[in-house]
Amino acid sequence: TPARKPLMAGNWKMNLNHLEAIAHVQKLAFALTEADFERVEVVVLPPFTDLRGVQTLVDADKLRIGYGAQDLSVHDSGAYTGEISGAMLAKLGCKYVLAGHSERRQYHGEDDETVNGKVKAALRHSITPIVCVGEGLPVRREGRHIAFTLDQVDGALKGLSADEAKKIVIAYEPVWAIGTGEVATPKDAQEVCGAIRERLAELYDDEVARTVRILYGGSVKANNIAGIIAQPDVDGGLVGGASLDPVEFVKICRLGE
Ligand code: PEP
Repeated sequence: TPARKPLMAGNWKMNLNHLEAIAHVQKLAFALTEADFERVEVVVLPPFTDLRGVQTLVDADKLRIGYGAQDLSVHDSGAYTGEISGAMLAKLGCKYVLAGHSERRQYHGEDDETVNGKVKAALRHSITPIVCVGEGLPVRREGRHIAFTLDQVDGALKGLSADEAKKIVIAYEPVWAIGTGEVATPKDAQEVCGAIRERLAELYDDEVARTVRILYGGSVKANNIAGIIAQPDVDGGLVGGASLDPVEFVKICRLGE
């Protein structure tokens, strides 16, 4: 059984300019130890305009902090004004990219087909897509959260081979828990993350299901990460608001200890 190293990814959203980004990553680098990096993989997901600066710092100081982007185009180049391609992100050393974050789905009309295109675009450039899925409050209230989320998983992975599927990360982010302070219980997180892993076994095989890391996201804080990460099918966290505070994010990377 390949061990799934816990992944803590900080989604900065539209916060921190390129100068603030450098100061922030320096603080993380100062606080995190080699022992921390042995236990968890630490990744930051800054705005596009910060990536070059973060790359320069990470390379210069040989930091073990990984970085990636919050979005990418389904296309590799061309007449797509304002878009950023996977090729460009790969050239900047991005290891990860979010695909289908709920804020992209909500405010930018990204549907499952678009998300699927973004997942494939990331994989074409050897970038690990962190595929975000999760239900809103009305769906949760109707008790349809598992079926809804698994539909999004099916949509995002459409046409991927088992070898490709093994390379992705999935983040279960119930929309009602994002930026609301309303965290899912560890049991809620496990219920859906476990169902996602079962779906991977159905769509592919046990090896894919065992390999793919499944994160929980939604108001993760230092004081709630321990219970969440203790769940058997939760392999890390996608952290929004709390990742903007370096002291808090380091505590989260230490799994709340
Ligand atoms: C997110 O942006 O993916 C997220 C989970 O945000 P927050 O931690 O602020 O709820």
